[in-house]
Amino acid sequence: MSIQTSVLEELLQSSAQLRPQLYFKSSLTALSHAMEDQVLASDAQPLIIASFQKERFYRQEAHRYERIAAITPHVYVLAAPETSFTNASRDYETIAFDPSDQLSHEWHLVVIGVQYSTCLICQERQNLPIAGAETPHLQAMDQTRRFEGIWTFDREVSSLAAEILLDRIGVYRPELAAKLKQAKAQFVGQMPTTRDVDPDPFAQRLVTYLQAGQYKLQKAYRSIAAKEQQERLVNLITSAMRQSLDPHEIFKVAVNELGKAMQAGRCLIYRGKANDAEVLISHEFRSDSLPSLLGQYWPLANHRLFQTVAQQQESISIPDTQAAESVESVDLAPLAELIQRWQIRSWLIVPIVYQGLLLGMIELHQAEPQSWTPDEIGLVEAIAAQLGVALIQAESYANLEDLNQQLEALERTRSNLIAITGHELRTPLSTIQVCLESLATEPDMLPELRQLMLSTALSDAERMRKLVQDFITLSRLESGRVEWHLEPVAIDECVTLALSSLRTRQSETGLPKVTAQIAEELPPVRADGERLVEVLSKLLDNACKFTQPDGSILITAQPNLQPNGGRMLEVTIADTGRGIEPNRLETVFDRFYQEEGALRRTAGGTGLGLAICRQIVQGLGGQIWAESAGRDQGSSFHFTLPLAQEPLDRTGANGSKGATEPASKRRSNRKRAVG
Ligand code: ADP
Repeated sequence: MSIQTSVLEELLQSSAQLRPQLYFKSSLTALSHAMEDQVLASDAQPLIIASFQKERFYRQEAHRYERIAAITPHVYVLAAPETSFTNASRDYETIAFDPSDQLSHEWHLVVIGVQYSTCLICQERQNLPIAGAETPHLQAMDQTRRFEGIWTFDREVSSLAAEILLDRIGVYRPELAAKLKQAKAQFVGQMPTTRDVDPDPFAQRLVTYLQAGQYKLQKAYRSIAAKEQQERLVNLITSAMRQSLDPHEIFKVAVNELGKAMQAGRCLIYRGKANDAEVLISHEFRSDSLPSLLGQYWPLANHRLFQTVAQQQESISIPDTQAAESVESVDLAPLAELIQRWQIRSWLIVPIVYQGLLLGMIELHQAEPQSWTPDEIGLVEAIAAQLGVALIQAESYANLEDLNQQLEALERTRSNLIAITGHELRTPLSTIQVCLESLATEPDMLPELRQLMLSTALSDAERMRKLVQDFITLSRLESGRVEWHLEPVAIDECVTLALSSLRTRQSETGLPKVTAQIAEELPPVRADGERLVEVLSKLLDNACKFTQPDGSILITAQPNLQPNGGRMLEVTIADTGRGIEPNRLETVFDRFYQEEGALRRTAGGTGLGLAICRQIVQGLGGQIWAESAGRDQGSSFHFTLPLAQEPLDRTGANGSKGATEPASKRRSNRKRAVG
């Protein structure tokens, strides 16, 4: 059954002089408690009718009504049921009304005693805008609920209210008709005894409850203020992160703001992976209470807390390092030295993680014991999460920059290629075309001239072939599309092959004197023989190109112990030619670098030779570099290669190129001269 008329309205209609007033929920709670306490404090047996909007509100007060029922037999409690609230007659009468009943919007409490009577009849006001509570979380707060109605000590009004409510109860529970009739007869319309009621205890109780309500509100505001401060801090750090893509800047802001907000003795933020041995501390916030760790190496490998947090990817806090022997199964004993040296009394360590990847850590140290609250830990974790995102963003940006640079380099290469193609391909092509056209159209051409035309066309065709070949080789090497056939290779065999091909290529021009001085007992290198010969040939070609015929070229090789203990073989090709300016020693390895510029080049070549050499040597695990004292001082090109672990198989069983060469080519005399 559901009744849609309002008790408040019925009361207002019956008593024209009544003026309803607005009450906050907290005031109504205080009033109700004070009224109930007044009943509990007296020995009279008053009539009590309490109507709760919902069962859950009644549940909070149920224990009071049990105590009240022990004092007076006339207790009626109404509520809209939610779980187990039903119509019942036990210590007191319970009346369950339908949740759609108008009563579920009202709050009533009527007390009619012999010495006094009082009533509170209110109706909840819906959706009222409340000044100062525009924010959704304040609106949603229970404390902002408002009611409109009457609260009075007036006996007549209270009697009227009791009558209306008793009639309602009669509708819901007709079986109580006799009891209700008796209640009406006993309490409604009766005049009080002449004894005056002292209002003081009631007022005292009311004030106490109001104070308690106020205290609750204060607590709620404090927690909102703390949350607001946290949000402000997270926003501040987040916006600082958004303004910068430099991890150093981001860490600087984060460590300062977080350290200040947490009033940390020391706050550290550092990058680190689980398997790092130590980290250099570059970002620290510190109060005077603790010594600085800035510029110090912070151990990670034997920092058990770091290791555990890194592994579990969850924060750990230690309120007092001196009160506990272990925390979350981390034994603190091995950390004793660290704790003592850096005076860490309480410790909070929070991982910086992005999608399961550990990027670093935030550590907070205090000189005094401190119990880190869930809010504080939550705040540091929120900052750590932001830092994780910021670091990944910064990294992606750096990668993008790299990619950009690579793209720019590619673009430069492309333009170079067009310039080179323009000159290197078009020029010989037109020469070839002219020669062939002349040969075709001049059948009477002198045999010597015919020969000249043919050899010019042939040599230009060869230049074009070389450029195309070099370009394809370099593209393959740079894109990693090269298959390496690594095996122990004898360097002397490769030098011999390079020298013989040099002789074939440059037999017609006047070559400088080329000498190879390679000790017989040199260990083999681990390399791809064919590629190694290519490097030697290119370096020898260059040396010949840039050295006058009366100059000389010397090829040497010796074992070379690396700083990291590795053993390499260093090969040197030194010439007495035109030399290289010191500031060009690196640039000569750039693609298409030629001192004269591609278009004014006189010595031939593509500008790709040294770039190819560098790609091959690095691909074989070595280094290549140039040395020169400057112009006309000669140059030397050096490269290293790793020594082979296994011995050289000169029988050919391992398929080594050197080993398959005829014995005549593997002369034991390592001193040879060409040109
Ligand atoms: P190129 O086909 O032009 O020789 P490289 O890549 O082999 O291309 O060499 C690039 C440039 O380095 C040459 O054009 C030349 O300016 C310089 N260079 C190379 N080797 C020598 C050397 N032995 N002496 C002097 N300059 C050299």
